Amino acid sequence: MYKLASKQLGSAQSAIRVAGITFGGGGFTTIAGPCAVENRAQIHGTAQFVASQGAQMLRGGAYKPRTSPYAFQGLGDEGVRLIAQAKRDAGIPCVVEALSEAELPVLCEYVDMLQIGARNMQNFSLLRAAARTGKPVLLKRAASATLEEVLYAAEYILVEGNPNVVLCERGIRGFDPQTRNVFDLAGALRLKELTHLPVIADPSHATGRASLIEPVVLAAAAAGLDGAIVEVHPNPAAALSDADQALDFPAFERLMRRLDSILSETVPNIPLTACR
Ligand code: PEP
Ligand code: MN
Repeated sequence: MYKLASKQLGSAQSAIRVAGITFGGGGFTTIAGPCAVENRAQIHGTAQFVASQGAQMLRGGAYKPRTSPYAFQGLGDEGVRLIAQAKRDAGIPCVVEALSEAELPVLCEYVDMLQIGARNMQNFSLLRAAARTGKPVLLKRAASATLEEVLYAAEYILVEGNPNVVLCERGIRGFDPQTRNVFDLAGALRLKELTHLPVIADPSHATGRASLIEPVVLAAAAAGLDGAIVEVHPNPAAALSDADQALDFPAFERLMRRLDSILSETVPNIPLTACR
């Protein structure tokens, strides 16, 4: 049994604090930024913009898990240093994915939260090593993982004595290429029934389409999930990875405006079964 991850009867939802921001404290926490850090101007400009629109955390990959070895693999350690500078200037913390244990020392020096991506959800030695750094971990659901497997993966981190785990629904593999993956909203809500850990949505990797990001974030917020992670790029058409799913700045601004109005109507007053 995943005893540390599970929601014991009557136990409260955990609030996970990361460098002054909170996941799971009853609000909706938004992480935004490019799929990959590409250069100083791109990450700096995006950090400034998303922070100005109310994003609480910056994202940006430095070590990219790409299906093809010929695709852009990220800037590596240099990308970590660039995002660290950008997040400091913007005044918000950042999350960066670790692809392997070898990257943990550099990441720990510069970033606030480690992301374990979908492809590594069951890389148990990476889970243990990430846990032992003491950094908060954003753990993504693998594309074909059951919720029980997600919870056991989280348990690997918790059992190492690191309680700061945020789970992320990023779409599961379906059969229809019209969306990159299938956003499993009911699965994410069921996850919240099973665990005290916060659960956020990643509509970018779930849908693969910029046009679907805003409605999926709004649905996640209305349903009572704890936040979202969204890909934003100053010029999506020129993005070196995941160009089709990146929001441009005006689209992100509109999303944050609409999110505000949804949240002011829903979250504080309506007790959702899934959130109890
Ligand atoms: C990412 O967030 O950059 C990413 C690669 O996500 P996932 O692991 O969900 O595919
Ligand atoms: Mn991406």
